[in-house]
Amino acid sequence: MPLIDLRSDTVTKPTPAMRRAMFEAEVGDDVYQEDPTVNRLEARAAEVLGKEAALFVPSGCMGNTIGIKLLTRHGEEVIAEARGHLLNYELSMAAWFSGCLVRPVAAPDGILTWDLIAPQVRPRGPHWAATGCIELENTHNMAGGTVYPQDVFDDVCDRAHAHGLPVHLDGARLFNAAAALGRPVSELCAKADTVMVCLSKGLGAPVGSMLAGPAALMDDARLYRKRLGGGMRQAGILAAAGLIALEQMPARMAEDHANARFLAEGLGALPGVRVLNPEPATNIVVFEAPEPARLSADLKARGVLINPISETALRAVTHYDVTREDCAQALAAVQEVVTPCRSH
Ligand SMILES: *Cc1c(COP(=O)(O)O)cnc(C)c1O
Repeated sequence: MPLIDLRSDTVTKPTPAMRRAMFEAEVGDDVYQEDPTVNRLEARAAEVLGKEAALFVPSGCMGNTIGIKLLTRHGEEVIAEARGHLLNYELSMAAWFSGCLVRPVAAPDGILTWDLIAPQVRPRGPHWAATGCIELENTHNMAGGTVYPQDVFDDVCDRAHAHGLPVHLDGARLFNAAAALGRPVSELCAKADTVMVCLSKGLGAPVGSMLAGPAALMDDARLYRKRLGGGMRQAGILAAAGLIALEQMPARMAEDHANARFLAEGLGALPGVRVLNPEPATNIVVFEAPEPARLSADLKARGVLINPISETALRAVTHYDVTREDCAQALAAVQEVVTPCRSH
């Protein structure tokens, strides 16, 4: 049975253009910085993100881990949004690798403002750990792919910098945010000190993320990557797909966003279903329905994969491997399982 996979945009498979580029990729040993394709990807990512340098890392988790390490000292705190990926889905790497405590700040829609952050900023003192950096997530995954209004993002960065605090941006889906705002990614992350973007989500590459920032920091980042086991050799095979992801895939993201809106609208019309972000800004729909775990299992039996994210809610993510027709089929399946015929 063909599956309609709405669990995440990580499930996207490499496009035919990516597979061709991978097959033909010129490679070398990247630990010696001699892989021409990785070097091209890193130069191009730095350009696209508007930073001095960029580093190809195997995962978003590693990119965030290194970003936090670069901006903090052991024993400091990192302020992050309470539902953020850094705090909840990265195996406490901020603690494990950087020795930092994540200080969560809850924000409606996952969008942190300086007013929310300010009361949690701690100076050096005899009893508490000083704040080392601020971490922002754009788009915010668990809040439903919400996008930072650019003035809010820039204001947080300016005020953080005025307090001597650097900012790391978890931009796993920054290209989705850019598509939603109709602005280049470089503008979105201009004021962040370091930024991580995933190539392996909506951009469709099989593996990899980019960490970008000042060249001196990226030199250190390369060493942390090696320590974490991310020193890859002929990684040009992967970077070749990453280059296609950067060049060809952002232009089609609006389609995913339109599909998410279509899903949200359809789900919202079903009895017993409540969409938490009825007008998704990007490619994520979060909705409440009775018994999410059972619902997810019943959907799977109908060839539709949607994961529960809590005791009450599920998350559907659109991407280039699901068409409008797939979304319509998924809606029909949800309708069947939320309103089951109890008589048999
Ligand atoms: C997916 C994701 C990451 C990184 O995930 P990896 O699976 O390690 O690549 C980081 N932040 C957010 C918000 C994400 O959604």
